This record gives sequence, structure tokens and C-alpha cells, in this order.
Amino acid sequence: MAEETAPQSTKPAAPPQAPPAAAVAPPVAATEPIEVKIKVRKPKQRSCDEKNAKGKLCAGHLKRWYDYPKEVEAKIGKEAEIYRCEFCKTLYKPDPKQMLHSFTLRY
Ligand SMILES: [Zn+2]
Repeated sequence: MAEETAPQSTKPAAPPQAPPAAAVAPPVAATEPIEVKIKVRKPKQRSCDEKNAKGKLCAGHLKRWYDYPKEVEAKIGKEAEIYRCEFCKTLYKPDPKQMLHSFTLRY
């Protein structure tokens, strides 16, 4: 006799789904303030003088920073001259006196 072919017992297994919404961590509040530390560069200063938690000098190189985010732009203005420490990310504004000096032409 023809054997009755049992219906395939392999039900389409449910693919692993993402956990229910309740298990998903709530999104980070968008209103979280971004802390921006801005210092003023001392004349001729080329490296960071911030100290870390252990009191050690950071001494990171201050690099001109061009593509800063809106949060920073709100503080320093658009296309401002700003430098950022490569290690601790402290921002440095140029020394206002030095800037003044560079605008003054001396003959
Ligand atoms: Zn630094």
C-alpha cells in the first residue's frame, strides 16, 4: 500500500525575532547636554596643559579643528578658529592678544 506521506513536520520555524519592545533599552534622552570645555591658548602654546585624573600633564598636540559640531558652533561661532587636543579633546581658543597682534600690520 501506498504509505501515507506524513505531512512535513518541519513547520516554518519562526525566525529569531528581535526582543519585544519592552526589552529594548529606552533611547538616550536627546536633551543630554554636551559638555564642551573651552580654554584659551596661551601665547605660543602648542600642546595641551590639561592634567588628567592622576595629575599628569596631557601634553597632547593642539590641532586646528574645522568640522566641529553644532553644539560647539553655538559657543564659539561659525568658522571660528579653534584648536583641539588630540588626547583629551579639550578645546582651545586662540589667544585673543595674539589674534589682535596678527591683525595689526606693522611697518
Ligand atoms: Zn589634552
